[in-house]
Amino acid sequence: MKNFLVLFVLLFSSFSVMADDFFAGFSADKINSSVYVIHGPREMPNAKNRGFMNNPAFIIADKSVVIVDPGSSHQVGTMLLREIKKVTDKPVSHIFNTHAHGDHWLANEVIQQSYPSVKIIADPRMIKKAKAGDAQSWVDNMISMTDGATKGTKIAYPDTAVEDGKQLKLAGLTFNIHSVGIAHSDTDIMIEYVEGSTFFTGDNVGYLRILRMSDGNFRDTIKAMDRAISLKKKHYVPGHGPSGDIKLPQLQREYLNVLYSQVEKFYEEGLEDFEMKAKIEAKLSKFKGWAGFSEELGKHISLAKLEVEKAEFE
Ligand SMILES: [Zn+2]
Repeated sequence: MKNFLVLFVLLFSSFSVMADDFFAGFSADKINSSVYVIHGPREMPNAKNRGFMNNPAFIIADKSVVIVDPGSSHQVGTMLLREIKKVTDKPVSHIFNTHAHGDHWLANEVIQQSYPSVKIIADPRMIKKAKAGDAQSWVDNMISMTDGATKGTKIAYPDTAVEDGKQLKLAGLTFNIHSVGIAHSDTDIMIEYVEGSTFFTGDNVGYLRILRMSDGNFRDTIKAMDRAISLKKKHYVPGHGPSGDIKLPQLQREYLNVLYSQVEKFYEEGLEDFEMKAKIEAKLSKFKGWAGFSEELGKHISLAKLEVEKAEFE
């Protein structure tokens, strides 16, 4: 019995060390003098990555901190608070949620626990969708996809709605809100942080990661890319994958535009999805090494074809 107990204690403590070790392996990258990003894994949520796959970011203002997309779970939010505390003792005053997909915002609650007066900002469509049941499905899906690694995550909805064209002065800093139609999810905002020349794209841009389009629209996301490119910011922080410069929205635009225009052309020629696939794959060969390319390409072609068909009646 005693041996069993020792074994149990050993097993339990090694499991907790494992759990701690996973998040201990990440730290925030400094993008410029005031912007930090924890670049998450690029795979879909699973037990190994504990559902962590996005890019939680924070901006240090004079008296407080502004967060963009705190992440998918209580555990990711706890890591984010740890990284903020390494840099500053200032409180968190605001959180932006870029869209309704739960991998970006389910960590709101753990931030709110530490900073009860925090304001949480999102597109009104995002708030509506989250409250209509989407948030709870995300919580449940995350638990099942990660074998329970995200347990303990609770929902804290955004409380402040912002739309395209809105300028916000938060904590002494200037943020312009950009939202272009349906784009990636029909709930998106992109956030331009003016003083830091930094553009947070949400999932309108992925870098080295092909993103899902099942809630989105190709032509609107291309327009969103035109907007992101026209602003000529120094830094672009994508929803998934490493941060970088203007080449990030340019590459995203290229992928979407080649895919959509090729589908349009082959649709006119009367080709079926499976006949288009090899031809389009060859045109997109530079994206072949990106995470999710082989899983998403067929789905993107089918979705783009539906969009082309629908556009004929517009
Ligand atoms: Zn998304």
